[in-house]
Amino acid sequence: ELETRLDIHTKDEIGDLAAAINNLASDLQRFRDTRQEFFAHISHELRTPITYLEGYAKVLKNRLYETEEEKEHYLDIIYQEGVRIQHLVDDLFELAKMEEGQISLSMERVDLKDVIKQAVRMVSLKAKEKGIELIVHPVASVPLIRGDRMRMEQIVLNLLENAVRYTEDGRIEIHLRSTPDSLLFSIEDTGIGIPEDELPYIFDRFYRVEKSRSRKTGGTGLGLSIVKKLVELQGGTIQVSSKREIGTRFTVTFTLPTMQEEKDEKS
Ligand code: ADP
Repeated sequence: ELETRLDIHTKDEIGDLAAAINNLASDLQRFRDTRQEFFAHISHELRTPITYLEGYAKVLKNRLYETEEEKEHYLDIIYQEGVRIQHLVDDLFELAKMEEGQISLSMERVDLKDVIKQAVRMVSLKAKEKGIELIVHPVASVPLIRGDRMRMEQIVLNLLENAVRYTEDGRIEIHLRSTPDSLLFSIEDTGIGIPEDELPYIFDRFYRVEKSRSRKTGGTGLGLSIVKKLVELQGGTIQVSSKREIGTRFTVTFTLPTMQEEKDEKS
């Protein structure tokens, strides 16, 4: 009887081991696929603007334009595509550093109210040009959080830039509030919105709701994945809700340090 029990035991273990190896193999395969997909994506993303650069440079070189205006227009495109490549390379580098766990945060006490004020200042001109009303709902004062100020600015600015990018002639509202154990802010726009079935994917690298719509608006499809990583690195969470043609709201929540943590930090 002991023998059969042992037998079963061994069989079980071998079975488990086999299952584990299988899992590992499929994990590896998935990893290889996503790596390959990732590089395929990068080269695709780079190829498009480079094709424009080449094409329009050739037009200029061969003087295939009729008016000075036309020439200016082609030069503009070349410039814009250059800027696009620059953004893409910057974003990719940023994302790569984060994925390798190589970004160092310099944690300090951050006043989110200040951060929001700063970011609003940066986008206000663009918002005005597009006829967008920017409303920051005033709050008396909020507790400070622990975070990296520059990275916090990057998060808020990125979300605000998106709100401006995907809104015409509408309104953007920013709320900041605290609960006993958390601090949260939301950025809500009355823009084109995101279809509900695409919401789960918008934080994925390179995911864009409509490729052409994004090309026109100058996005790289990397912004939100960077934002999400930065939020999580600082212990926060990000949520989105949206309705097509109605608007979009992003909410970012950070937990506040407990009394004990505050004490530990001071001592
Ligand atoms: P992109 O650089 O293309 O803007 P993001 O990663 O920042 O890339 O956003 C991913 C996609 O989510 C965008 O292509 C856009 O379609 C959608 N999106 C992001 N923010 C908004 C918003 N405020 N309103 C509508 N769509 C948005």
